[in-house]
Amino acid sequence: MNIHEYQAKAVLKEFGVPVSRGVAILKPDDVDAAIAELGGPVFVVKSQIHAGGRGKGHFKEPEAGEKGGVRVAKSPEDVKTYVDQMLGRTLVTVQTGAAGKQVNRIYLEDGAEIDREFYVSLLVDRASSRPSFVVSTEGGMNIEDVAHDTPEKIVTFSVDPATGVQPHHGRRLAAALGLSGDLAKQAGALTTSLYNAFIAKDMAMLEINPLIISKDGRIVCLDAKVSFDSNALYRHPDMFALRDETEEDPKEIEASKHDLNYISLSGEIGCMVNGAGLAMATMDIIKLYGSEPANFLDVGGGATKEKVTAAFKIITADPQVKGILVNIFGGIMKCDVIAEGVIAAVKDVGLTVPLVVRLEGTNVELGKKIISSSGLNVIPADDLDDAAQKIVAAVKNA
Ligand code: ADP
Ligand code: MG
Repeated sequence: MNIHEYQAKAVLKEFGVPVSRGVAILKPDDVDAAIAELGGPVFVVKSQIHAGGRGKGHFKEPEAGEKGGVRVAKSPEDVKTYVDQMLGRTLVTVQTGAAGKQVNRIYLEDGAEIDREFYVSLLVDRASSRPSFVVSTEGGMNIEDVAHDTPEKIVTFSVDPATGVQPHHGRRLAAALGLSGDLAKQAGALTTSLYNAFIAKDMAMLEINPLIISKDGRIVCLDAKVSFDSNALYRHPDMFALRDETEEDPKEIEASKHDLNYISLSGEIGCMVNGAGLAMATMDIIKLYGSEPANFLDVGGGATKEKVTAAFKIITADPQVKGILVNIFGGIMKCDVIAEGVIAAVKDVGLTVPLVVRLEGTNVELGKKIISSSGLNVIPADDLDDAAQKIVAAVKNA
């Protein structure tokens, strides 16, 4: 689960992380109070969406101007103008895709005078199974580009969770950023407070880009991106309360209600598969035969007919879907349960696109019989290769 920048900064502040003062604006009426509270003279008006690259993004609506989703305002009038140009408009950034995201909230912040910009993040490194810092002197840039073009400018080190964060980690971070004296001391304190926040709140990722040194010699987190480990959210009702469903894909929200592992993608072939590995392989083979998957979906091992029906409805409701591939290897999951779920869903919502079904494993004969006697226009397939070729051909010929 992701949260907004202003929420992330409020969480980090509780742990002693240095952030700028700011006020969230949720509706146009909030602007005057926000301006009065901060006082200026320099403000930064920041669009709040669950995507990065806002500063360099642009709005879809021409009246919002070509300027980005983060703007420096030198007067209260400018603040009002910018808020007016951002609120309710659609911001397109490198991370939102072409459709962009609607800006429903703004964060008004004190303007900082930036001397230098750095990059710092914390995430769980799967290779070492430890929380790891990723640090770079190249702040304010896309870290993927830095990793590609100048990997030597990225320093990573992990923290043993058994002993926790130690002073030497702070010295390591300071050294990676070339800091000494008082700035190194501030970097040390920052290392500890970021780590403590990361662990205490079960974060999956914590990214500060940029981390700055202000002209008056203070280290400040100017941006903050936080995502939580969804499996641990039950331990953090206060964090769960920060969820903003308007930022999430409605199909994924629906899927989460049915406990389905569903991820929306940009292709044209809807996939219903059991098992994450088989679902990945199914997406790969769709690509191999020249098309693109519209989603990842693992219905799970012990799915019921109701769950399968819900999954099928989510797939068919997606206007991008031009064909559906059901690929089931029955083990604990029985092929007849899948067949019944598919038929129940089709009876309910209809079927306007080609459907290829490949069943194998437990109760396969029964499953096939249920489908063939249903009168539905289903294209049967014998194996995965056959199934992928058939659905790709059906979509291309449609
Ligand atoms: P994004 O990463 O989505 O583009 P950021 O919060 O990093 O958004 O803002 C983009 C840029 O705007 C930053 O790299 C920084 O240079 C500038 N900026 C952001 N917040 C402030 C602030 N409070 N004061 C001054 N400049 C800021
Ligand atoms: Mg940023």
